[in-house]
Parts: sequence; structure tokens; C-alpha cells
Amino acid sequence: MTPAPTRPGVQGPTVADVGEFGLIAAITAGLAPTASVPVTVGDDCAVLAPTGRLAVSTDSMVEDVHFRRQWSSARDVGRKAVASAMADVVAMGARPLALVVAVVLPPDLPAAWAQELGVGIRQEADLCGAVLAGGDTAGGEKIVVAVTVFGDLEGRTPILRSGARPGQVVAYIGNLGMAEAGLTVLRRGFRSPAAVVNAHRVPAPPYDQGIVAAEAGATAMIDCSDGLVADLRHLAEASGVVIAIETENLAVAEPQQTVAAAIGRADPLDFVLRGGDDHALLATFEPGRVPAGWTVIGGVAAADGDPGVLVDGAPFTATEGWKHF
Ligand SMILES: [Mg+2]
Repeated sequence: MTPAPTRPGVQGPTVADVGEFGLIAAITAGLAPTASVPVTVGDDCAVLAPTGRLAVSTDSMVEDVHFRRQWSSARDVGRKAVASAMADVVAMGARPLALVVAVVLPPDLPAAWAQELGVGIRQEADLCGAVLAGGDTAGGEKIVVAVTVFGDLEGRTPILRSGARPGQVVAYIGNLGMAEAGLTVLRRGFRSPAAVVNAHRVPAPPYDQGIVAAEAGATAMIDCSDGLVADLRHLAEASGVVIAIETENLAVAEPQQTVAAAIGRADPLDFVLRGGDDHALLATFEPGRVPAGWTVIGGVAAADGDPGVLVDGAPFTATEGWKHF
């Protein structure tokens, strides 16, 4: 990349100074073909060579809707965009294979921010074992990061939301309500406890556990993005069952208790029940087939009336989960 002139009032070159091709060159430097992505960045399309059927999903993150530049670094935003999209691949029992990323960037954005975004995207792709296979950039008023992900089912049956059956147990692995506790303190102008703030900035989906669950015979699975009760309701409704959980099986982390006490929230369990965006995995199994490391939180029963979720035996009726609109 050639050094670009700077503008008055802006630190370093802007996205407009560096240009689309300069940015793409910086973000994609060193990407090489692999066995599963034999044609990658630099051609009109990438070519994927999965061994099984493909699981495909897409996810957008919009500045000031899903992230704020004063709360998250560019690298955090890149990592979160990939993590939240790839969690859906994992929740099908697929192996992360590849991703393509479309970004909208304001022309006066520092080029360094855009390059750090790329670093975060590459970093999280490496962490989950996927290849950045292509993308697109365009100018616009707000930053948008849209990630399309591909997962290789490798011959496994995809784990749908509709497979929960009476008599099975429901279990989870990963964080619950940590990101929500982090967002709560950030909204109040604080930057700690670090564990919850970091959980908001960069979720940590249990990437290896989707396949573990599939191989253990998971009958239904979802990643927890809207909140525990809200996402269990998605499973219950798709399966036509009642899912009953017991809160004694749910741990409240120490920093969640700290945040609840600091803001005067009566029950820190609220974060765990309602908080989304941590991308834990929720799945149903036959009893005795739950993989190591997963926590059983309840069971599946036949629906006498409407499908839904019971928490400690009672319908969970309060406003819950993240509403996108
Ligand atoms: Mg999902």
C-alpha cells in the first residue's frame, strides 16, 4: 500500500485516502488456497470444496445498533461479527469452513480502523478454523459488517430446532448472560468488571462443541443469541413441546452478581435467563447421552396446550430476550 495523504482533523489516512483496493490488499494479505477452499480471494468467486453438505447463514452488524465505536475496538467488532455468524453454523452440527464479508465504511473513517477490523475478522476466522474466502467494500454513512458463513456437515445429519421430544433432557455449554451484564455496565458509563465487558465485546462460542453434540446424538440445537428463555422457546415451538428448566441448575457468575448489586437489580439470574449474544449452545439429548462439559438444566415434556418454556414450573411471561425491532 502506498502512503496516503492525511486530511485536516483526521488521524492518519482515511478509508477514502487508501481506497477499496488498498484496504482489501491489507486485509487479505497472505491468504492462500487450502484443500477445502481451493480458490480464494482474488478471483471473481471463491470455490469451496466441502466433504459433505453445506450449512449457510448470514448476519449483519450495524454501528450504533449492534456496536458502538467508543465501547468496542475495531478488532473486537471484527471478531464479534465472525463469532456471532459462525455460532449458527456450529449450532447445526457443522464444522466452520469459510466466510465472506461485506463491509460498508464511511469514507472519513481512519484507514487504521478498517485494517484493524480486518485483523479481527482474520483472528476469529483462524480461531474457529474457517478461511476468509472473499468479500466486498462499499462507502456509506455508518459502519456495517455483514458476514456470510459456510459450514461443512461432513456427512452428519444437520441438527434442527424441531427435534426435541418428550423425555429428553436440555443442556447447554458456554456463557449465559455475561454479554448482557457487560452491555448493562457499558450503558451506565462503566468499563468493569472486565469479564462481562469483554464478553460483550467478543463472545466466545464453544466452536468445537456443535460437532461433539451432534456425534453424541443431539436431537435439537440452537445457539443462544436472543436469550436463554427466548431461544429455548424457539426450540419448544419448532418441536411442539414444553421445555421446563430449573434455575437451581443455572450458575450466576461472580461478576454478574457484582453488576446486579451495583445497579440495584433484584436478581442477577435475570442476566442468565434473558441475556443473549454470548452464543452458548443449547441442545436436547436422550438422558445419559449428554457430552462431558455440558450442564443439564431441565427436560422436555409433551405440550398439553401451547408449546413453551417453564422456569421452575411456571410460564416465563415477563418481557424477555433481545428484540431486534
Ligand atoms: Mg442462531
